[in-house]
Amino acid sequence: MVDLKGQYLKIKEDVDKSIQAVIDSSAFINGPAVKTFTEQLSKYMGGCHVVTCGNGTDALQIALMALDLKPGDEVIVPAFTYVASAEVIGLLGLTPVMVDVDPRTFNVTVENIKKGLSNKTKAIIPVHLFGQSCDMEPILEFAKKNGLYVIEDNAQAIGAEYTFSDGHRAKTGTMGTIGCTSFFPSKNLGCYGDGGAIFTNDEKLGERVRMIANHGQEVKYHHKVIGCNSRLDTLQAAVLEIKLRHLDEYCQARYSAAAYYSERLKTFDPKEEHILTPHEVSNSTHVYHQYTLRVNDGKRDALKQYLADHGVPSMIYYPLPLQEQEAFMSITRAGEGLDNARECAHTVLSLPIHTELTKEVQDYIIEQVINFFK
Ligand SMILES: *Cc1c(COP(=O)(O)O)cnc(C)c1O
Repeated sequence: MVDLKGQYLKIKEDVDKSIQAVIDSSAFINGPAVKTFTEQLSKYMGGCHVVTCGNGTDALQIALMALDLKPGDEVIVPAFTYVASAEVIGLLGLTPVMVDVDPRTFNVTVENIKKGLSNKTKAIIPVHLFGQSCDMEPILEFAKKNGLYVIEDNAQAIGAEYTFSDGHRAKTGTMGTIGCTSFFPSKNLGCYGDGGAIFTNDEKLGERVRMIANHGQEVKYHHKVIGCNSRLDTLQAAVLEIKLRHLDEYCQARYSAAAYYSERLKTFDPKEEHILTPHEVSNSTHVYHQYTLRVNDGKRDALKQYLADHGVPSMIYYPLPLQEQEAFMSITRAGEGLDNARECAHTVLSLPIHTELTKEVQDYIIEQVINFFK
């Protein structure tokens, strides 16, 4: 699905040097690379406050902790997402309220969110799934009107940009109260282990987030609140410093690969009788963390098997909507009719997409998809 080795080999000299510098300095915890990477990432994201942490799940947890929510408070989350988006809600004793998604973009919309609203709702977690922004303007308006926090799960969309109706643009992860991302190796900005970051434009909140990620202390051994220990490893920061320089080019490579898939698959199936290619909206760029098809007529699993038999990996992100996950059954207030989430779980199939994908390899993959339907 990805080619992390091929990507590394192209930047090997810089990465090796950067890692070696950390080892030479032996500043393994909160070394200088963490600070430089944090500054560079802030600049890339448009100047917001950035707090790095241990992974994307921690980022979401710390974000919720910083907002001082109380047990029983409800947090709206899409039913079709990676478990981490909702897991942290349950972990903190809050109530996840699952809402449906748009079946073409896979993203939650304000109409879906409205259906989950109650007088206990305190926050919304829009997930920019597969690399494209949710339609944030109406979500932000709705949140403001109802006094809700917005925590963007930007683990899959770092680098994507949303355009507001007045024409101004913002990076995903910087529009809500807090944004969260992950540097898991296969993410668009991946390190060589675990890592994550939290974004906010609110300086006070940024300080609170930093304190919570650091055992609830601002001054060493003086703990103001219950926090946690979540840090970006200096070696990972050293890798990320180098990779951030290439992020736009990586996004472009993914976009080009996706465009080629879609062009050829649409030519083969112009009436979408067999498959739906990813739908690109007009007010967001798409950084294609995943290239996700929907397969018609219950043929998804057979196509996956056919591809596997012909040496093509593919993945189902995600086979179960959250409302059907055992872990959530007793703690959730599932919204009504999460039909699209269920439908997506039954029909989605993601093809390999990464920065090192060649046309030759794509041609082979596309041929196999076409052959299956012939
Ligand atoms: C990867 C991911 C996370 C969690 O990131 P980790 O670094 O693996 O903890 C959260 N949400 C979404 C949507 C993700 O894809």
